[in-house]
Amino acid sequence: MLKIDNLHVSVDGREILRGIELTVNPGEFHVVMGPNGSGKSTLALTIAGHPKYRVTGGRITFEGEDITGLDPDERAKRGIMLAFQHPHEVEGVKIIEFLQQVLVELKGMDPAEAYDLIVEKAKELWFKEEDLHRYVNVGFSGGERKRLELLQALLIEPKLLILDEPDSGVDVDSLSIISRKIEELHQRGTAILLITHYGRILGHLDREKLTVHVMKDGRIVKTGSGELVDQIDREGFTRIFEEVGA
Ligand code: ADP
Ligand code: MG
Ligand code: MG
Repeated sequence: MLKIDNLHVSVDGREILRGIELTVNPGEFHVVMGPNGSGKSTLALTIAGHPKYRVTGGRITFEGEDITGLDPDERAKRGIMLAFQHPHEVEGVKIIEFLQQVLVELKGMDPAEAYDLIVEKAKELWFKEEDLHRYVNVGFSGGERKRLELLQALLIEPKLLILDEPDSGVDVDSLSIISRKIEELHQRGTAILLITHYGRILGHLDREKLTVHVMKDGRIVKTGSGELVDQIDREGFTRIFEEVGA
């Protein structure tokens, strides 16, 4: 479904990704780990089409189509969603209006039908109806921001959901609901590309179902099974980097 070949990406003239190879098939669950600054967010934002990230080599295909040059909204229409590491405040835009617009544009729903669905799903992520009339992320805690990203994902049910550290800056309770909702989306058929530093977000997810990629300096230096997550939790990255000579 997603195929990345020899991807090189520069930001402000500096090469950050240096030859990424990655294939995600429908319904698969991939985890990307790596030290700070290794290029995980750059990879996520590049797949989503953020204009700041310039592809200087290689290509990204999605369902057989070259999407390397497509705008973010065109990628969203094709079923790719990114849940941001740092969701922004959007002053003046109410959550309910934003989500209605997303459902109208991506799912062809009518606004009234969308409204009911949003309120119903919002409850599953602990938002009350009145919360939905607040501005997007304005004054929100880390946990609330990440739950709002998950709410969007739950409503859209993208073909591919990229989650950039959904576990960073969240309280324990939010962590557990976010973890359950990611698993729910996966069970409903969404392919997942999850960036994380810790195995905890994976909960009791069967490690055998996971494919884990370890990044360093803009490259994937090791790909393995889910046990890698627990190894990294225990030992950090040093041993792995020594093993592969990275
Ligand atoms: P990670 O998500 O793994 O922590 P990032 O992709 O955020 O890594 O960053 C990779 C490298 O790219 C870092 O050295 C970072 O400083 C640099 N970088 C990322 N985004 C930008 C940007 N917008 N402008 C300049 N440098 C950036
Ligand atoms: Mg980081
Ligand atoms: Mg990051």
